[in-house]
Amino acid sequence: MTDIKSLTLSQLNTVLSPLGLPRFRAKQIYQWLHQKGVASFDEMTNLSKALREELSQAFYIPVCTVEEKYVSQLDGTVKYLFRLHDGEYIEAVVMQYHYGSTICISSQVGCKMGCTFCASTLAGFQRNLLPSEMEGQLHAAQRDLGIRISHVVLMGIGEPLDNYDNVIQFLKTLNDENGLHLSLRDVTLSTCGIVPRIYDLIEENLPITLTLSLHAPNDRLRSGMMPVNQRWGVEEAIAACRAYAEKTSRRVSFEYTLISGVNDTPQCAAELAAKLRGFICHVNLIPVNDVEERGNVRSSDEAVKNFQSALKKQGINATIRRTLGKDIQASCGQLRRRKQQS
Ligand code: SAH
Repeated sequence: MTDIKSLTLSQLNTVLSPLGLPRFRAKQIYQWLHQKGVASFDEMTNLSKALREELSQAFYIPVCTVEEKYVSQLDGTVKYLFRLHDGEYIEAVVMQYHYGSTICISSQVGCKMGCTFCASTLAGFQRNLLPSEMEGQLHAAQRDLGIRISHVVLMGIGEPLDNYDNVIQFLKTLNDENGLHLSLRDVTLSTCGIVPRIYDLIEENLPITLTLSLHAPNDRLRSGMMPVNQRWGVEEAIAACRAYAEKTSRRVSFEYTLISGVNDTPQCAAELAAKLRGFICHVNLIPVNDVEERGNVRSSDEAVKNFQSALKKQGINATIRRTLGKDIQASCGQLRRRKQQS
């Protein structure tokens, strides 16, 4: 059976042509799937019962079912563990900001990247998410919460640039006027630094914000934390980000997770400032979230502040990420991991 929700409108027209339907039908079906985010053909009430029946025999609609849900008592952050049609689990988090609701979604089931501080990669990689499954996380959260989500960050489980084609199609669908019609300016893609795919992304000419998970200012340190760095080093990754910013006129940001005594020293700050000199960018400082199996220790508030002011003194724009959902294990990978172990 074909996943009908991962087809573009023109692909949908093609696969429906043997049914001899008028052209507007494909568009109606597309709107049900993407604008409304329906979970079944029966909800497509402007189609005949016979047609709904016919569709359900040839196609399926992958849905994200809420398996577990946690609401932070501190800030209203909502964390979901979703179950996919094949029984796999993924996570998403909805956060409220003054400018609207943001969802952090997963792009893969598990991850291959092996970063030493991250929970998502601990149990390895299962499979890529389909475009419909990335979009499905938005639909499921919107339906459950009764809100419209305006911002999307690809920062959940998985490496989005390791699932390149599906991610690009998902982004185009998000922006489609017959779908959720979200502005791609309100979408952020976070990558560990798969450099050739960053150059491919430049060619797509999508106005998304790119974020590089940098976490260390030199190859020795970064290769120890992030195996991907052994393939594409710090300089290469930053050069790709500079090219992205130049070609797309979009600002690039860097994630820098601070681990006590590892990458939070004044030397690291100085080295980082030197690497980013002259680059109009933004650095997000994130005190590491403790992941039980990882044994990393959060930097002290003082070390975080000092790191920030060292960057600022060198003219680098740096902010400290507010931790949301502290009471609900809101950093990604932790719920799926717990589910697997139970
Ligand atoms: N694979 C992508 C996106 C998913 S990870 C990437 O690497 O960017 C999303 C962000 O969370 C990354 O910046 C990642 O490095 C960071 N992260 C992972 N584990 C973390 C932890 N325990 N504490 C703080 N940040 C973490």
